Amino acid sequence: MSHEVTKHPVPEAFAAQANLTPETYKEMYARSVNDPEGFWAEHGKRIQWMKPFTQVKDVSWDKDNLHVKWFADGTLNVTESCLDRQLETRGDKPAIIWEGDEAEDAHTLTYRQLYKAVCRFSNVLKDLGVGKGDRVTIYLPMIPEAAMAMLACARIGAIHSVVFGGFSPEALAGRITDCESKFVITADEGLRGGRKVPLKTNADKACQLANGMVEKMLVVQRTGGDVHMEEGRDFWLHEVGAEVSDECAPEPMNAEDPLFILYTSGSTGKPKGVLHTCGGYLVWASMTHEYVFDLKENDVFWCSADVGWVTGHTYIVYGPLANGATSVMFEGVPTYPDASRFWEVCDRHQVTIFYTAPTAIRALMREGSDPVDKTSRKSIRLLGTVGEPINPEAWEWYFHIVGEGRCPIVDTWWQTETGGTMIVPLPGTTDMKPGAGSHPFFGVKPELVDAEGNILQGEAEGNLIITDSWPGQMRTVYGDHQRFVDTYFSAYPGNYFTGDGCRRDADGFYWITGRVDDVINVSGHRMGTAEVESALVSHHAVAEAAVVGYPHDIKGQGIYAYVTTVAGVEMDDELKKDLIKHVRYEIGPIASPDLIQFAPGLPKTRSGKIMRRILRKIAEDSFDALGDTSTLADPEVVDQLIEGRQNRS
Ligand code: ATP
Ligand code: MG
Repeated sequence: MSHEVTKHPVPEAFAAQANLTPETYKEMYARSVNDPEGFWAEHGKRIQWMKPFTQVKDVSWDKDNLHVKWFADGTLNVTESCLDRQLETRGDKPAIIWEGDEAEDAHTLTYRQLYKAVCRFSNVLKDLGVGKGDRVTIYLPMIPEAAMAMLACARIGAIHSVVFGGFSPEALAGRITDCESKFVITADEGLRGGRKVPLKTNADKACQLANGMVEKMLVVQRTGGDVHMEEGRDFWLHEVGAEVSDECAPEPMNAEDPLFILYTSGSTGKPKGVLHTCGGYLVWASMTHEYVFDLKENDVFWCSADVGWVTGHTYIVYGPLANGATSVMFEGVPTYPDASRFWEVCDRHQVTIFYTAPTAIRALMREGSDPVDKTSRKSIRLLGTVGEPINPEAWEWYFHIVGEGRCPIVDTWWQTETGGTMIVPLPGTTDMKPGAGSHPFFGVKPELVDAEGNILQGEAEGNLIITDSWPGQMRTVYGDHQRFVDTYFSAYPGNYFTGDGCRRDADGFYWITGRVDDVINVSGHRMGTAEVESALVSHHAVAEAAVVGYPHDIKGQGIYAYVTTVAGVEMDDELKKDLIKHVRYEIGPIASPDLIQFAPGLPKTRSGKIMRRILRKIAEDSFDALGDTSTLADPEVVDQLIEGRQNRS
């Protein structure tokens, strides 16, 4: 069961300047897994230590004694790596290039300016009573203050918990109470796609819901909109920030002291407070950022994620700044004011590396190539993607239309839990297969297992596990260590279970096939949702597709496909027949959808991932058991989908 796979060699001009070659990758990878102690003792030095570590790895994945420690006797403050040490040679280099929601609204912060701003911010937090180990909830739009707030927490040893600005008051309150956060940093209003987001009002409601948990709220003025300020509790940053010094000594932290908590996006259930610590995380963030993106001193690096997601933590803030790189931060959305926006931003700031999500690529692909073609994009050298499996169709569009065949694509597979990239076609080291996560990053040991936990060899499909620790691994679920053990280490004892399905092809490339919970079993054939969806998306009439299983008398599970068409297509039975034919041709009769529903929109998490859990419930007719829908971007699509569901009898 496989369709033709195109293989793209690394574009020659890129290969000629790449930091890695196929040989150096092999050598470094071999050393990283054969001698992890030696390898990480060396690479652990890439960040700034106050007191250097002498121990490297102290890890047990035994269920009864689970602990993960890296560089455990070292002392550091991550902001010294990200700021202080850059001042000498990069003080005047742009650290953050900010592009606002409106195109005319842009400005740059040099490393020196950012350093001072972070020190002032740190002093403000101290004055508010924030101390080492306190949790601080950050609920901000994509403005430089978001990065400053994170770094200021890190500088004084507080633990930040960033909550995406698109979350509701209820979701925010849940995250405040879960980690008992007494401090909230927010803004008057956010601005996205020309629309205002009432952040302060939401935060006020969240405080109410959190029943007096929140003692102090720091408010950034973004729009100047009229908001309620509660005497004694709420403070404007521009007021309290004017009175403090721009020097603040960094708090010495143990390598294993917490750096941040981040709640996962919730595609699969109640959000978990993923905890990362200072030393290992920063080593991983900076190392992956350098190698995955073939980083050079003069690069302008743009990760289009929101800082509310781990992608924003690792590849807008910590990775780039630890590497002294220039990081672009974008407040807006890909389609405002129109579908050229991403590429215009690339042209305006001469972006050399661009990193986004499949959901954005598919949305732009829907609009055709005109909005892309009218921009230059000549500055771009490398393209990246993260968040979901990328359909080969979308990959090819990204490669040919956006990158004009010049730029390799790094499809980075990783998770909030992993801290940074784990599986990736490192640029310059491998042929590219559209849709394949490809090969492990240094120090990562992936394996595929069957349901009984047997390790599968060679060409195979199974559940993806990681068999040894890496420095960027999460350390626990905040406040619930048992949940950490149960979620990740009980399915395959002694190994980290990713929750994702994966295939390894005859050339040894890894292909993520989707979440294990989403695997469909048709007449005894296990199928990843990604494969069937990609076949559908490769049809010219289809913009996006989501596939789930539903109970089927004969086959065990049938295939139910939700399909969003490109603009202007007739959504009739003729098209359904054609789609079924197309999937049979692309994959085989076993994968042909039993039911197809045309859907104007799909339920997505706020980070843009398709929430198949809900689609599965609708396909099963169990509307009462939709589960937690609080992290949905647009809850209304659910009602539309229920209304248009296909009769399955
Ligand atoms: P939750 O764990 O709360 O359900 P989530 O898994 O969506 O939410 P993230 O940690 O942001 O939260 O996402 C990680 C998951 O996203 C991976 O486990 C995988 O399923 C998917 N993913 C990320 N990058 C890729 C990629 N390049 N290719 C395929 N899948 C990817
Ligand atoms: Mg997950």
